[in-house]
Amino acid sequence: SRAQAMEVEESPTVTYDDIGGIDDQVREVREAVEDPLLTPELFEEVGVDPPSGVLLHGPPGTGKTMLAKAVANETDATFIKMAGSELVRKFIGEGSRLVRDLFELAAERQPAVIFIDEIDAVAAKRTDSKTSGDAEVQRTMMQLLSEMDGFDDRGEIRIMAATNRFDMLDEAILRPGRFDRLIEVPKPNAEGRAQILRIHTRDMNVADDVAFAELADDLDGYSGADLASLATEAGMFAIRDDRTEVRMTDFLDAKAKIEENEDSGPVMAF
Ligand code: ATP
Repeated sequence: SRAQAMEVEESPTVTYDDIGGIDDQVREVREAVEDPLLTPELFEEVGVDPPSGVLLHGPPGTGKTMLAKAVANETDATFIKMAGSELVRKFIGEGSRLVRDLFELAAERQPAVIFIDEIDAVAAKRTDSKTSGDAEVQRTMMQLLSEMDGFDDRGEIRIMAATNRFDMLDEAILRPGRFDRLIEVPKPNAEGRAQILRIHTRDMNVADDVAFAELADDLDGYSGADLASLATEAGMFAIRDDRTEVRMTDFLDAKAKIEENEDSGPVMAF
């Protein structure tokens, strides 16, 4: 049903302050999504059309969903999330029906930000195989494109999507009037990693000996999500040791544990 496939948040609580290490991307998203919602008259006066759809692409856990939620928060918009994998349904017509529901719901709840995660699930390049499953996915994608194309006067609805397989996407969805603004969201550099660690330890009782910049230097390849786990894990080490203060050694123990568990795993993969 509609309720199961979509995640609706009337007012998400994520703010730009919760997002570290991707300041340029935050600025681009604000320009492409926030400004057209808050000051549409400016675009009209200047005579430019705002981007139709914004596609965020980059590795998992880098803050793509956070960006979409933060922009919805900032514009007091309803956040409506749909996972691309949810759109790939068994029964004929189910996927396109969900796409129609998605845009209908957004129209009812505007201002709204539609966020389609894992868009590659419905918008991958056509393969040679002509199985019925493929045809159904194709139909769902056509429905999505037609909703976007028929959206000249889209009112207060903005469309965002995310993927970590940009290279797999069918170019049809990147044409003007569709996802015509691409924003790459990379893994953070050392400075970004330190910033993200500070964000995720804001509410933690951190000892004076914790040097985030030094720590971050040694965390090459960590995503924002990896850094969030590291902070939690460090806290767990302090608790295990019956301390209420989290020390540098706890962060180093957490790092060792994560890297032991994920030897050749996702943490170090690029
Ligand atoms: P996926 O492609 O797996 O859906 P994503 O890019 O959408 O990933 P998010 O869902 O936004 O990633 O991030 C997951 C969690 O990781 C966040 O809830 C947050 O705790 C942490 N995180 C990720 N990126 C950042 C960041 N740039 N700053 C602070 N925290 C981050």
